[in-house]
Amino acid sequence: MAGNGLTAFQAVNQYFQEAARIIDLDDEMYSVLTTTYREIAVQVPVRLDDGDLVVVQGYRVQHNGARGPYKGGVRYHPASDLEEVRALASLMTWKTALLDVPFGGAKGGIAVDPTTMSTGELQRMTRRFTNGISHVIGIYRDIPAPDMNTNAQTMAWMMDAYSAKGGYSPAIVTGKPVSLGGAPGREAATGRGVVDVLEAHVRRTGGTLEGLRIAVQGFGNVGSFAALEAATRGASVVAVSDRFGGLRNDAGLDVERLAADQRNGAKVSDHEADGDLVSNEELLVSDCDVLIPAALDEQIHEGNAGQVQARVIVEAANYPTTPDADKILGDRGVVVIPDILANAGGVTGSYFEWSMNIQQFTWKLDRFNTELADKMQIAYTAVADLAEEKHCSLRAAAFAIGIQRVAAASRLRGYV
Ligand code: NAD
Repeated sequence: MAGNGLTAFQAVNQYFQEAARIIDLDDEMYSVLTTTYREIAVQVPVRLDDGDLVVVQGYRVQHNGARGPYKGGVRYHPASDLEEVRALASLMTWKTALLDVPFGGAKGGIAVDPTTMSTGELQRMTRRFTNGISHVIGIYRDIPAPDMNTNAQTMAWMMDAYSAKGGYSPAIVTGKPVSLGGAPGREAATGRGVVDVLEAHVRRTGGTLEGLRIAVQGFGNVGSFAALEAATRGASVVAVSDRFGGLRNDAGLDVERLAADQRNGAKVSDHEADGDLVSNEELLVSDCDVLIPAALDEQIHEGNAGQVQARVIVEAANYPTTPDADKILGDRGVVVIPDILANAGGVTGSYFEWSMNIQQFTWKLDRFNTELADKMQIAYTAVADLAEEKHCSLRAAAFAIGIQRVAAASRLRGYV
């Protein structure tokens, strides 16, 4: 719940509503675009290693496919439910349109705590879920990818389960291991894109990344690569956290070592000698220039938005800011670079990977990163220009661009 009793989907549709006003969207199109095309909930029975059976619920929501096959990640999290998956699926629709990649929007989720499961249990659950949704996915129909608590290994299992029926189909998922048709660069692409967009913003406002003090909540796929990339480009990462808590050092953290240790199973808080331990709540309101939420939904809310000290928030996570908080931040002059722009490097990299799979041709890493930076820069400039022209927030401008493109395609295809 986003405060005010709103579900995640209702909250995201509030952002939609604000942008729809800017582009004068008609009522019929409004109805089509604020609802989802298809939703499925599947039973996922999982045999645990001790012989017990648990039955968890899985979801796939396809929001809009006017511009191309549905596209979006799969999340394993206890809080995952249909309303959250709907919200995330709709964000994917606006994101793919904003970046002008030929996809629609979808999302998947399983309501489960995967941190307590063995590799065998995770594999059995992933295969069962893939079988459950296999009739609605396809390389030109719907292409899943990793998200919270899923990774390249999860995608390899999904690809294998799908290929068992339809023949070798690497393009059925993106974010695969490179040895199975994954793209060199995809794993880092979301975090890298976050920094591409931040750099574009800082440059436009006359600054550089050099010495900028950055705090990152969440040190998983997105957060760790964003922190590494920001540090490589001269910023000072003063705080990072994972679900167990955070670490702060005003002189800057050695994020390369933290990331390397994390790959070997260490928590951020295991590095107590490198700084002061802080809670996730403290990190969000701590002293920094730029805050990068890269973990869960609704982390910046009515209760803490007034205390955020950063002047810029780059939403690496999806839907980390509730509408109430967004208003408070806007009134305080805090610039929010919205999720559908900030973390779009992931789906853009996925588009590159999918295209490579279809053509059976792999790009070199340099080409991947250059094309990614170009697309992020183009999208940022379009958003910043429209925000200036309409005197609106970057979020409203980003939604407006995405909605306009999807509405045009939906009209041409005869949805309305
Ligand atoms: P991940 O599972 O790799 O990492 C999540 C991180 O958040 C971990 O460090 C975890 O410990 C931390 N975390 C979990 N619960 C937390 C809590 N209560 N408080 C603080 N930290 C907590 O996931 P990810 O793929 O990095 O995804 C993170 C966010 O980025 C999600 O919102 C996801 O939707 C979004 N995103 C991911 C991608 C992608 O390519 N993976 C693309 C676009 C957007």
